[in-house]
Amino acid sequence: MGAPPAGRCHHVGVRILLVEDEALIARALREALEAEGYVVDHADRGDDGLWQATENSYDGIILDIMLPGLNGYKVCRQLRQAGNFTPIMMLTAKDGEFDQAEGLDLGADDYMTKPFSLTVLQARLRAMLRRGPSERPAVMTAGDLVLDPGARTCIRAEHEIDLTPREFSLLRYLLHRLDEPVSKRDLLEHVWADDDADVNVVQVYVGYLRRKIDEPFGCQSIETVRGYGYRLVRSGGVPDSGRDGSSGGKGDG
Ligand code: CA
Repeated sequence: MGAPPAGRCHHVGVRILLVEDEALIARALREALEAEGYVVDHADRGDDGLWQATENSYDGIILDIMLPGLNGYKVCRQLRQAGNFTPIMMLTAKDGEFDQAEGLDLGADDYMTKPFSLTVLQARLRAMLRRGPSERPAVMTAGDLVLDPGARTCIRAEHEIDLTPREFSLLRYLLHRLDEPVSKRDLLEHVWADDDADVNVVQVYVGYLRRKIDEPFGCQSIETVRGYGYRLVRSGGVPDSGRDGSSGGKGDG
């Protein structure tokens, strides 16, 4: 690396990966960022962007959503799953195309809606870079069950399990209290955060979770604690003890 070019500002040496397939936007962004002293690499396909982000080290990534090869959501998700926590700003064509909650849930740090002001984007980019990579939450395990809150993945015996956000939160809380009996009321308060919700909803969701993380694998890791609640056991449950079958009653849930 040579000396930074004279007259450039303090962003010299800060590396940005720009993943954008619209040539005009890509060029305008690149020129604006380079004028500020950033070093900018550009990919015009999602799969190329993912490859570059994996091969090189960047301080930040600006990631369009609608991309040939691999969309921005998937690029973001795959990076996070691979343990890459480079700050990501997502770009979206218009409100509505982008589900903000989904994007942020997948691990994006910020987003901008097109058309955007370059000045605003640059300010938001600076703020994002100042914050740096988000800290990765610890991976949680119980036997061969692995929940990664950073990557939003759940894996049992090397099979990825698709969980809804509520199921994910429920499992996360049970893992947080691993091997302890957890009351339904406690689950309701921590996972639903709603004092007025009916405790029966907990039972319904525990049923959903069992059908995803236990039954297909012959496990019984979520034990019923009669008259109280549930316990997630590290061992994954003893296959030959038979189903404990306590009061089904999904009923009208
Ligand atoms: Ca696009």
